[in-house]
Order: sequence, then structure tokens, then C-alpha cells
Amino acid sequence: MILKAARLLHRLALGSEEISYLLRRSPRRHSIGLRISADGLTVSVPTRLQQQQWEQALIQKSAWILSRLEQMRTHATPPFIWQAGQMLPFLGSPVELAVECGNTRTQPRLEEGVLSVSMPHSHDPAALANKVVKWYRREALTFFQHRVAVYARQLGTEVSRLNLSNARTRWGSCTSRGDIRLNWRLIKAPPSVIDYVVAHELAHLIELNHSPAFWQTVSQLCPDYLELRAYLNAHASHYHQF
Ligand SMILES: [Zn+2]
Repeated sequence: MILKAARLLHRLALGSEEISYLLRRSPRRHSIGLRISADGLTVSVPTRLQQQQWEQALIQKSAWILSRLEQMRTHATPPFIWQAGQMLPFLGSPVELAVECGNTRTQPRLEEGVLSVSMPHSHDPAALANKVVKWYRREALTFFQHRVAVYARQLGTEVSRLNLSNARTRWGSCTSRGDIRLNWRLIKAPPSVIDYVVAHELAHLIELNHSPAFWQTVSQLCPDYLELRAYLNAHASHYHQF
């Protein structure tokens, strides 16, 4: 049976360890791709490849896979604790979280590096998290809308829809219909880094691939994109703490 672009969780014994991995079949692929992220191993294969063939490839690469998975486990960041005094990244600078007793309908306020959030006297951390994340998402949408408009004008193109995403690994995406999605967590990064991701997604309105012509467009919009992309990769786990 051929499953087009299906995503399935598989298991395989590598040496003395059993690993699980996400399988992606793609008609556009001609080779096997391995990617290890905080979510684990993803194996991308051409649609018609037999299981035996990619399993063979995984076994051949088992030393590399096991050491990278181990690295990911040891570098995994501890869960974020929602309490006053925490430092939150916002537009590339740390902001101190302050919790005050008050009307729950009062919106959080950012003033001089302090984000003040009104909460009832006894509240659970999830309620605080919820309120702060809602604030982040509102700020993100306003900021992104503005930057998307700036770059769309430069490219002489139009964005049909801008939405926020909550993806665990991707920062942005773009469809051929011109719908852009940006991860709300990007608002934690410096404005220049956000601009790189916006430029990247808008360049996909012209080139829906990662060809040299695509990167040419990105570099016209954002000449420092290599550094900014490296910065974002280096800070990804920090920005995904919550
Ligand atoms: Zn892209």
C-alpha cells in the first residue's frame, strides 16, 4: 500500500536500543533524509521506497543517530516554571515577569522591562501561563502584520492571510495561495531575526522552493540572512521553553 505524504510513527532496534521515528513519504524525494530535533528522529523517504531499504540505511547510520538522540536528551531544557521573577524573552531582550493581585480582566502591561500581569490571589501556574501566552500572541500578530506589510510592498506582492502558528519546530510557512503562518514564539527574537523569517516566507510567494533563485530573493530583502538564520537556530530551544 502506498501512503502519500503519510506521517507514521515507526519503531526499529538499533544495536541494544529500540528507537521510534516519524516516517514521511514524499513523492518529491529521491533520497532518504534524516533529521533529529527535540521531537526525535524524522525519516523522509521517496514514496515507493521499501521499508527494508530505509531500515537498512538507518542501521548503517545507527552510531550517528544514537549519539545525536543522546545529545538531544541531555540538552533538553527543563520545563519552564510559571512564577513571578522569571525572565521572559521579548523582541530579543529579557523582560521580568511580575504578578500582581488584581482584576483578572486587566490586560498585562509591559513597562520598563517589566511585564505586569494581574491574577487572582490564588491562581494555578497554568492560568498565568495562559494569560501571558495570550499577551504574546496579541503582540506577535500586531508586530508581524506590520513587518509583513513592509516586505510585501518591497516585493510588490500581496499576502492573502496571515495567521499565527504554534508549531514545535517550524518558524513559518507559506502556501501557494499566499497564506502565511508565523510561529507566535518568534516575537521572543530580535526584530532583525523576525524580519529574516518574514522575508523568507514572503520570498516563497515568488519562489515556492529553496532554489538559488529563492535565496537570491531573500538576500535582496535581508542581506544578513545567514547570520540571522544562525542566530535563530542557536536560540531555538530557548524560544521554545514555553
Ligand atoms: Zn522556506
